[in-house]
Amino acid sequence: MKNVVILGSTGSIGENTLKVIEHLGGAVRVMALGAGRNLSRLAEQIGRFRPDAVSVAHEEDIPLLRDQLSVLGVTHRPRLYAGIEGLIELVSLAEADIIVAATVGAVGLRPTYRAIELGKRVALANKETLVIAGELMTKTAQRTGAELLPVDSEHNAIHQCLLGVNPEHIQRLILTASGGPFRQASLEQMQAATPEQALNHPTWQMGRKITIDSATLMNKGLEIIEATWLFGCGADKVDVVIHPQSLVHSMVEMIDGSLIAQLGVTDMRFAIQYALTFPERQPTSLPRLSFSPSLALEFYPPDVERFPCIRLAYQAATASGTMPTVLNAANEVAVQAFLDRRIGFMEIPQLIHAVMMTHAIEPVQSLDQLIQVDQWARQQSEQFIDGGRAASGRV
Ligand code: NDP
Repeated sequence: MKNVVILGSTGSIGENTLKVIEHLGGAVRVMALGAGRNLSRLAEQIGRFRPDAVSVAHEEDIPLLRDQLSVLGVTHRPRLYAGIEGLIELVSLAEADIIVAATVGAVGLRPTYRAIELGKRVALANKETLVIAGELMTKTAQRTGAELLPVDSEHNAIHQCLLGVNPEHIQRLILTASGGPFRQASLEQMQAATPEQALNHPTWQMGRKITIDSATLMNKGLEIIEATWLFGCGADKVDVVIHPQSLVHSMVEMIDGSLIAQLGVTDMRFAIQYALTFPERQPTSLPRLSFSPSLALEFYPPDVERFPCIRLAYQAATASGTMPTVLNAANEVAVQAFLDRRIGFMEIPQLIHAVMMTHAIEPVQSLDQLIQVDQWARQQSEQFIDGGRAASGRV
């Protein structure tokens, strides 16, 4: 039996992971759960899965979680922790075999890095951590033997396509993107886009931050950088193609021109189960792809004029060093500012560009250095928003 720790258990990936674990029956056990502020959902999960340990984002929420457990009549009492240190406690549990990294944004950085230092298997959904610190994480994983298994559906697809492939035979990796809700929108419509419109994703049900990233295509930008670290290649070997049906999850092109693709219906439980059971596979009761007459597979090149986040991500990946950390931090601030209606939709890439332009790149030395750079980029982003500079930054 494998012991699993889920960071971000109350989120979209976290809840899907719990469904997969229920489906797998006795093969996998929930050892610990880490969440933010959704205490009622967390209390239900504690009642259902009886973990040994639980962490919440804020210390002051611990008594509130105890109250929730009493309200729901849950008698099980796990050890309770809080904050980033709490998440680090969970991943450090000696018997934890697999860490599902599914918090959102930079919150998961230190806990995920700790799991890698301890040589655990990390089922990685939280792509931002690899964008911020991919070099440190992959080097540390090589040293400790930690396995990084991608949960992100595109990278999970590439992982599957690459099984048994000689690395010298790979020409390029091709990430597919749905194109998001504004695939066919005009620039004027995108300039006037509201958070409600941007949150209306055509094919995937996900958390709010990644849904906005999918609307700007920064999600694909982050995935380009994620792919360079997971598969050990330069950004020039990673391409993006728009595929509105989201059925081909990604592809690998070989040096002889052959393409290997991975297909399936849009349900993250496939990728999560793969990461939990690898190298084994287990049956699922999930829907299968139906080859009905209405099945259509379309592919288009991305429009980097309307979606400049893709270009920014290539620039950050090529500049390397601390630039991807800056890109990620500025994007996190910009997405929140858009959701809070402080900036417009097309100001998201403008703000990121403006912050990147003011950053003097440093070679990556340590996690503490990257955390400082992340903090600097957040402050810089806030200052630019307050000073109205997001609107004037040309991309
Ligand atoms: P959600 O917003 O749905 O969930 C985020 C989770 O993180 C929640 O459990 C939330 O807790 C928790 N969290 C937030 N802040 C903290 C904190 N300070 N301390 C501890 N926990 C915290 O996000 P998603 O599940 O959609 O995405 C998670 C990650 O997976 C992201 O990096 C995303 O890019 C990636 N991903 C997601 C996909 C998807 O289909 N959703 C697909 C591919 C990748 P709470 O809700 O209790 O506050």
